[in-house]
Amino acid sequence: MTARIAIIGAGLAGCMAAGALSQRNHVTLFEECRNCRSFDPIVDVGAPHRLTTVAGVGPGGTTKFWHNGLIVPRTTLFRDWPLRWADLEEHVDHTLQRLGGSGLRAYLTNQARGHDRMLAAGASENVLGPALYYPSRRMNAYRTFVRRTAVHTRYVRISRISQTQEAGWALFGSADGEAQLLGEYDAVIISAGGLRTPALLSEGVLQMAGGGTSRALSNAGRHYEDHPSFFHGIGRLRVPVSQVWSISTQSGAIRIPILEPGSDRFAIYIRPRWQDTAQVVSDKLGMTLSDLRNNPFNINSIGRVISNPDDLIELLGIKLGVPPPGQLFSALVVAESGAEGKISYDDEGRTIRKWLLPPTFVAALSEKVTSALTASGLVDDYKPYDISEMVVRSSAHHSGSSRMANSEDQGVCNSACEVFGAENIFIAGGAVLAGTAYYNTGVLIGSLAFRLVDEICKRFR
Ligand SMILES: Cc1cc2nc3c(=O)[nH]c(=O)nc-3n(C[C@H](O)[C@H](O)[C@H](O)COP(=O)(O)OP(=O)(O)OC[C@H]3O[C@@H](n4cnc5c(N)ncnc54)[C@H](O)[C@@H]3O)c2cc1C
Repeated sequence: MTARIAIIGAGLAGCMAAGALSQRNHVTLFEECRNCRSFDPIVDVGAPHRLTTVAGVGPGGTTKFWHNGLIVPRTTLFRDWPLRWADLEEHVDHTLQRLGGSGLRAYLTNQARGHDRMLAAGASENVLGPALYYPSRRMNAYRTFVRRTAVHTRYVRISRISQTQEAGWALFGSADGEAQLLGEYDAVIISAGGLRTPALLSEGVLQMAGGGTSRALSNAGRHYEDHPSFFHGIGRLRVPVSQVWSISTQSGAIRIPILEPGSDRFAIYIRPRWQDTAQVVSDKLGMTLSDLRNNPFNINSIGRVISNPDDLIELLGIKLGVPPPGQLFSALVVAESGAEGKISYDDEGRTIRKWLLPPTFVAALSEKVTSALTASGLVDDYKPYDISEMVVRSSAHHSGSSRMANSEDQGVCNSACEVFGAENIFIAGGAVLAGTAYYNTGVLIGSLAFRLVDEICKRFR
């Protein structure tokens, strides 16, 4: 049977699922708009002062901005998930191939090389974490997975999903204010990002036949997480920074973080000293280098990098293999949220995020970060900043807000990503993740999207 499948949201998960499903099914991909503003204007409530965040809109979603850094989490992450590492492994391999150009085996080989390099620099084995792998070319999910496929893309914002008498689903939405019926589908994948997916699962938006409801829907919006990150201090390594900062591989570069032994609550990345000169510079640096990776021959991007010494040094190190000089380093920390947030959505088109990060969050981690660095075997001298100087940033890893769980009391969908009590309504993307510790979410998002593709193909065989 060729199924009619609607996918809501052309971000990372939506595009990966759309491209793969279109080989055997009629796939319509709904994206809010083609050329709207780049950022979703997010209103932060309850977040620390000076924190900013973004989510992307338009084809590619948040991958219009992402750095494409890929981490394969340790298998212990799945202890509290409704599925195991073994359920995901083949999909992780496939995701790495599609997003990073080489599979799991190459990732693990490079990771082992990275660990050897850290050990040779004097690191203790029990502090070394999984590799963060940056492929040399950043992907925009829409360009990579959807262009040149049979997927039909429609630029409409979806506002309602209603079950039909024939046990299918009707989608409503509008590009110009007036809601209209857009079509009927056998299955719907909601992949509208971690901040928007719960809005599409809320009362009055997801409408079951006969006015029925699912208890699980009351969990939509709960369990929201992001990864707070901040520069924690400066120090001197026992070896040149270039030896442990970024390690070139055939298809990109890897970075090995320092972890607290036996825990994945936070990771510390060694950075050349000048990279934390100011929060503003670091934000700008991320964006500028991402632009350059995406458009290597764009004169504006090149000009911006050349005019900023910090950008230039990172560029020389990553792209051209020129090592940063000296032994001084900054410690960049990426952490687990450690708090359950609540998100909500407002009808006027603003996304409101309630990220309930406690005010004492940084202070609670700070001593552990210093101890982990001191025990790492790599550091000669280290001085954390004053707590008041540590500015927490959002990593824009909006996740967990419609998470998978073992039962409808604990989450929104089951381990096949199907919403409890709503047959053939599936979730993909950051929203579905059942806890991420400190890990970047891209590999998990991709693996679950490919696993969902297999599930749907089996169901509509
Ligand atoms: C600067 C930056 C750097 C990052 N770096 C990394 C990194 O190195 N590694 C990593 O793993 N992750 C990184 N991320 C995070 C990563 O980009 C996101 O986790 C990922 O893109 C989320 O994918 P998604 O499919 O859940 O949602 P998104 O990619 O956000 O896509 C959601 C899409 O749904 C659309 N949509 C929403 N509501 C509707 C509606 N009602 N109707 C129609 N369409 C709708 C939106 O317009 C959007 O296009 C980074 C993010 C940022 C901002």
